[in-house]
Amino acid sequence: MTYKTQIAVSACLLGQKVRYDGKTKKHALIIDMFLNKGLSTVELIPFCPEVAIGLGVPREKIQVIRNKDKQIRLVGVEDHTLDVTHELQSYAENFLLQYPDIKYYIVKSKSPSCGYQSTPLFISQVDDEKSGLMKKHDNYNYNYNYNYEQAELTSGLFVQTLQTIEPELVIIEETQFDSEEACLMFFQQIQNG
Ligand code: SF4
Repeated sequence: MTYKTQIAVSACLLGQKVRYDGKTKKHALIIDMFLNKGLSTVELIPFCPEVAIGLGVPREKIQVIRNKDKQIRLVGVEDHTLDVTHELQSYAENFLLQYPDIKYYIVKSKSPSCGYQSTPLFISQVDDEKSGLMKKHDNYNYNYNYNYEQAELTSGLFVQTLQTIEPELVIIEETQFDSEEACLMFFQQIQNG
């Protein structure tokens, strides 16, 4: 029996309509090279962390923030009481337990869950103490001025959790696969172990 290398892929890249807006981010080249032509050597494992934790489709858009306590949280863009930080982290931990042999991940850029070093990190620009618009939820305080501004780029929370547990994983965004040559180079990397 031929051994196939498993590659986990953000499901929206494979044409699944799992995005917050009910749409897909279908990546024709990845599907052609990895799903159609690569069938004999690789097995693609689709995943969508946000659907997996029950957010549904469509759903409220979420974002990565650093709160006033310097904690990274994954919260709703409109409703900051929607906090799925623990759920996303637990899903990532369980995914690693379920698929201990997967060393390669192809992920959707800029996503608050799946992005790899391209996800906007938002930080409150107002003084929480003075705003008077705080609400306590899940033991964390949230600012209700919605005045969050992008400060820097980070990784989505699913990817952050994977890397914390398994720093050696190979994680690549779909933007790297912009040509057949790039895909073939990746195949070569897999074959060389
Ligand atoms: S969570 Fe990841 S897989 Fe799901 S829609 Fe967003 S980018 Fe795609």
